[in-house]
This record gives sequence, structure tokens and C-alpha cells, in this order.
Amino acid sequence: MEPVTVLDRGLLFPPEWLSLREETELLVLHHTGGAAGEDPSAAEIDAIHRGLRWAGVGYHYLIRKDGRIEKGRPAAAIGAHVEGANIWSVGVALCGNFCEEEPTAAQIESCAMLLSVLSSSFRVPLDVEHVVGHRDLAATACPGDALYTRIAEIIGKANWYHEQ
Ligand SMILES: [Zn+2]
Repeated sequence: MEPVTVLDRGLLFPPEWLSLREETELLVLHHTGGAAGEDPSAAEIDAIHRGLRWAGVGYHYLIRKDGRIEKGRPAAAIGAHVEGANIWSVGVALCGNFCEEEPTAAQIESCAMLLSVLSSSFRVPLDVEHVVGHRDLAATACPGDALYTRIAEIIGKANWYHEQ
């Protein structure tokens, strides 16, 4: 498998803020929402979420428009990205509002590569039962039609990367 580069921007999470997941069943895809064209960094989302008095950025990974993958909340910790399912899921957010714009080709590829790694790390199958959109679990438009309709394609690519 190709190595996947995850940029660590040095966000600090006091250990007492976080709890470790006991199990991981789902990989959940999100968009960051907001205005079309926005490409927020993990640090920017972290500042917003801390402003809500959350334990830092709620997503485990951010995928920027140029395909760079940024580390969010530590991958083994319980995130804050999907009400009712945080305790058994990893949250991956692609930057943009896919109700209004398309994910970039670089984001799609990086997402597939990251999912293949997460599948190995957390022993989560790469199929539509286990790789889902936020809207599959809650009443939300997230991750937007333009990403949601590509999840099967992303899973296919992730399986390809997984076999390399
Ligand atoms: Zn979401």
C-alpha cells in the first residue's frame, strides 16, 4: 500500500479532554459546509469548535481542496462529528460545500487513500455498510449531494488502493 501523508499541524489536545473509542464500526464522510469555495484548515476548524466549547476539532481528518490531508482530533479518540454515533466512528471532512460545488479530483483520491489506511488501522470493511455519509445517520444535508453521490466510487477506489 502506498504511504499516505497526513499533515500534523500540531494541534494540542489535553488528554483529559479526550476519551478513546472502544470500537470502530463506521467511517463517516462530511463536508465542512459554509460558503462555496471555502477551504478551511484543521486549525481553523479547531478554533471554531473550541469556540463552541468542544474538545477541539470534531473531525479526525480534514481533506483540503488540493488533496492535502490534515490531522484533526487524534484518530483513536472519540470525535464530535455525528450525534449518536461518535463512540464508534471516525469522521473525515472534505473541505467545501458539496450542496453547491463539486469535490476536487484530488480530494476524491486522497479520501480513497485515507479510507484504505483507516480500514486497515481500525479493521473496518470498505463497503457501503461501513463507509457512510453523515446524512445516513442524522437529519442533515451533509456531505452534500455532490459528495454523497460519489461515495460508492470512493469506496471502489479505496478498495483498489487497499490491494496495492
Ligand atoms: Zn457532517
